[in-house]
Amino acid sequence: EIRLRFAPSPTGYFHVGGARTALYNWLVAKKSGGQFILRIDDTDEQRNKDEWTDGILAALGWLEITFDEGPYFQSQRKSLYSETARRLFESGLAYFCSCTREEIDERARLRGGRPGYDGFCRDRGLQPKEGYALRFKVPDGETIVDDQVRGRVVFSNSTIEDFILLKGNGAALYVLANFVDDVDLRITHVIRAEEHLPTTPKAVLLYQALGLRPPVFAHLPVLVNEKRVKLSKRRDRVAVEDFRDQGFLPEAMVNYLALLGWSPGDDVEFLSREEMLDRFDLSRVSKAPAFFDVVKMTHFNKHYIMIMELDRFVEESVRFLESEDFWTGDEAQRAKLTEVAPFVKERIALLSEVVPMVDFLFADLKELGLPIGPFSDSDQVILSRYVDRVERLQEFRKDDLESEFRELGEELSISLRKLQAPIRLAVTGRKVGPPLFVAMEVLGRDTSIRRIKGALG
Ligand code: GLU
Repeated sequence: EIRLRFAPSPTGYFHVGGARTALYNWLVAKKSGGQFILRIDDTDEQRNKDEWTDGILAALGWLEITFDEGPYFQSQRKSLYSETARRLFESGLAYFCSCTREEIDERARLRGGRPGYDGFCRDRGLQPKEGYALRFKVPDGETIVDDQVRGRVVFSNSTIEDFILLKGNGAALYVLANFVDDVDLRITHVIRAEEHLPTTPKAVLLYQALGLRPPVFAHLPVLVNEKRVKLSKRRDRVAVEDFRDQGFLPEAMVNYLALLGWSPGDDVEFLSREEMLDRFDLSRVSKAPAFFDVVKMTHFNKHYIMIMELDRFVEESVRFLESEDFWTGDEAQRAKLTEVAPFVKERIALLSEVVPMVDFLFADLKELGLPIGPFSDSDQVILSRYVDRVERLQEFRKDDLESEFRELGEELSISLRKLQAPIRLAVTGRKVGPPLFVAMEVLGRDTSIRRIKGALG
């Protein structure tokens, strides 16, 4: 049975790198009819916070990366780690060490060699004692990591010191905890960030020591920013939550993230979840760093907004309007929103852009803090001639508003673009928005006329 896990450490906002790792694990699990497991690696008590765990769960839910088992919490599984540690000690595969950091460093200095542990306590036969660390006895030879992405990576064991499994206070180190959990949860594939590759031979040594077969490993390429520097939570915009708040759609993010390191092998960029499941293949994951390009992700978002169902678009828009003072959500407001929605949907790349596209329908321009003007003398001519025409209209409909507009253009012989600008600014307070005549019809005769007249000096 194929079993994969996503094992985030809750030490900060859930970021796009984590989301990509989760997605790839999910894809491989689902594709093969296997299980996807969530494990929270919360052994670092100083840096872990429950709210980070909540954020991870919320973001995974939002991205619809669903798990079949878990979440398991490493903090609740400590006894498993000490049990395995004891077994390793009792079978002579690990030993206790009394050396302090200072002693280790001092000996390295005297040796004049590389810093690191020299195996001082290997054969001293120390018994467990408070303050003694447990170290793994690294055998001679080499350790091979057969990585699905990196290929065969050979590590000489002479470069791996006798690493610590348990600290002096009895706490398991990450390498032990992860190994024990991966064995216990019967994980068959470990797909994770490239930064974990250097510690992988340690895990492989543990599997070998206990006569177990290591899982398949796949280390995903790093994500870099536009300067080709590894993405950092501190420097770069990477929190999934922030992207959601800015109005990215989960399906756009999932599609874009899928392509960060993987490509289906043709020029196809937009893939549904089904198509991704159909085509995803670890052997097509590249070693090369992947550029996390927010601009490109925004293009993906625009595409997904364009193709989304109108009803859902309205609902999602409401989510953004709800934080505005002018939004009451009453029937009249919703009706107006629904009328302009098809036009707005085609014009935005982020859902948050809905607000400045439609706010003029719901509040006074002054209340919205929008500038009224400036209008030049020729703008004034346009505005007064246009308002004269539309005031006389029987019905305030977009087609009639447009014919009057076109006729005025001919009369004044100005381009329609130039003609439109002051009218749009007077009516909506902005330079861009839904089609002008739709905007005026939905806004209604009284308000439209009042705003144009208000712009006349
Ligand atoms: N907990 C580790 C992390 O968040 C991942 C460990 C793993 O996938 O093996 O980076």
